[in-house]
Amino acid sequence: MAALFRGSRNIWLRWNKHADFAFVSLRSMASKTPVGFIGLGNMGSPMATNLLKNGYPVIATDVFPESCKELQDIGAQVVDSPADVADRADRIITMLPSSPNVIEVYTGPNGILKKVKKGTLLIDSSTIDPAVSKEMAKAAEKMGAVFMDAPVSGGVGAASLAKLTFMVGGLEEEYEAAQELLTCMGANVVYCGQVGTGQAAKICNNMLLAIGMIGTAETMNLGIRLGLDPKLLTKILNMSSGRCWSSDKYNPVPGVMEGVPSSNNYQGGFGTTLMAKDLGLAQNTATNTKTPIPLGSLAHQIYRVMCSRGYANKDFSSIFQFLREEEGQ
Ligand code: NAD
Repeated sequence: MAALFRGSRNIWLRWNKHADFAFVSLRSMASKTPVGFIGLGNMGSPMATNLLKNGYPVIATDVFPESCKELQDIGAQVVDSPADVADRADRIITMLPSSPNVIEVYTGPNGILKKVKKGTLLIDSSTIDPAVSKEMAKAAEKMGAVFMDAPVSGGVGAASLAKLTFMVGGLEEEYEAAQELLTCMGANVVYCGQVGTGQAAKICNNMLLAIGMIGTAETMNLGIRLGLDPKLLTKILNMSSGRCWSSDKYNPVPGVMEGVPSSNNYQGGFGTTLMAKDLGLAQNTATNTKTPIPLGSLAHQIYRVMCSRGYANKDFSSIFQFLREEEGQ
């Protein structure tokens, strides 16, 4: 039902230079109406850029005006607040750091829901607590709007190349409308189920990633201590049952692989703070559902300690360096 409202406000007249006549493009009418984008950070900025590249007018905002400048220079219209975005767009994507920012942007005094129009599609791609996604969906529904969670896997590089994977939760009948926009920014879009399930999938993946990375780092460190060459050990692991993404594609030992953060002083990539945040979400959801996650809990504590010991802004594979520094203490 909500989908009926979207795109119906704007009729796009297109001038066909070749045939020399104007025509109403029903397809453009439905698909190229402005898209709102809130949160122009490391991920949001390249994602919004890809919407522009696909011909969508973008109406954007961020609390830091300097974050908006780059996007404004390539054609986005920048406005003052999430409420102003909601006033001008009936499809809005948010890409914010964490749950409190999402609550503020949707339900705060200048939030989206202050001016949201009936039928607006709201897609939140931030990684947050699934319970908050459900809360936002209820609040949006009261205003006649539709909220979906669509967190991503893939970092800044994947965001720039439109190669993200989106895990989508929400009303199935709205999935197609969300997919239309998400395919401009990602290579894979997967429908997971009711609202909150996209976040659930994202949190589970990142918990396993953290556990795998810690396991790889301590295995590599032990092997090196036992006299093995790290490249040889990596080769053996990757042809044996110990192989995982962290050993094979994102090795945490400097010099073993090129083009990964460990070979660039752990710069770029996925920050330790963000990993600690995602593990905190896993811990909360596990506590709420009385699910045992002994290794996930331990991984959470390890990444929290790393944040307080100067690793907050390094890539999460710096766990290897952290373990080396802990040696002998
Ligand atoms: P970021 O901190 O670089 O960007 C977030 C942006 O949101 C900032 O520009 C900030 O100013 C803006 N913002 C915060 N509060 C706001 C408000 N009230 N109104 C308007 N703008 C506001 O974060 P990021 O790296 O782009 O990550 C965004 C989300 O994506 C996070 O939830 C993160 O966990 C997830 N994620 C990140 C990566 C990654 O590699 N960086 C990968 C996958 C998922």
